[in-house]
Amino acid sequence: MTELVFRDDAYARSCAARVTGADERGIRLDRTVFYPTGGGQPGDTGTLRLASGAAIAIIDTLKGEGPDEVIHVAAPGSALPEPGTELVAELDWERRHRLMRMHTCLHLLCAVVPGAVTGGQVSDGRGRLDFDVPGSSLDREVIAAGRNVLIAAGHPVMPRWISDEELAARPELVRTMSVKPPSGAGHVRLMEIAGPNGQIDVQPCGGTHIRNTAEIGPVTIAKIENKGRQNRRVIVAFA
Ligand SMILES: [Zn+2]
Repeated sequence: MTELVFRDDAYARSCAARVTGADERGIRLDRTVFYPTGGGQPGDTGTLRLASGAAIAIIDTLKGEGPDEVIHVAAPGSALPEPGTELVAELDWERRHRLMRMHTCLHLLCAVVPGAVTGGQVSDGRGRLDFDVPGSSLDREVIAAGRNVLIAAGHPVMPRWISDEELAARPELVRTMSVKPPSGAGHVRLMEIAGPNGQIDVQPCGGTHIRNTAEIGPVTIAKIENKGRQNRRVIVAFA
């Protein structure tokens, strides 16, 4: 089990850690700032810096089998560290920050598009959400305008924890039908975007987010695609 530093502090760029295991799949640490692929957000990249001066390039981060188990995937040909090795785990922060901005932008997209979310994916510089919307296509201008107002307003983005029972009693909180919220540990993390007149968006999410919608910066709706009779795919990109 790995202590997930990013869960409480998405802005932590590095942390001291100790190697707990290393094999052909990757390197396990006792704690990490590296987010593993999941919930539509790609895994982090970066560097593990050893006291010896050696550096191991991490090209991807994945979930292990166990709960809160994180696998740091080293570049091919890397020399693997021995268990017990002390090191500093350091993110490619520029990339991660772009992913956090785009991820949070997709929460705002949820807030301006009516209809259930059937899928989604964040990538570097772009993101998409699929909506279950019957009938005519979504209006690109209306969506863009609504979302830009929410970005510019600088709304706070905050985590809040609720119990599994509370979530089960409020199924309307789960907007993304394709991504089951992490539960079973007794509690679930909600991400809440608060506005002056109540919640703008609230949903269970284990990803990394920025603190304020203003930090997202300028984005455009790159495309709206019809993916089947009821499915509309909205693709956003940084301007
Ligand atoms: Zn999220």
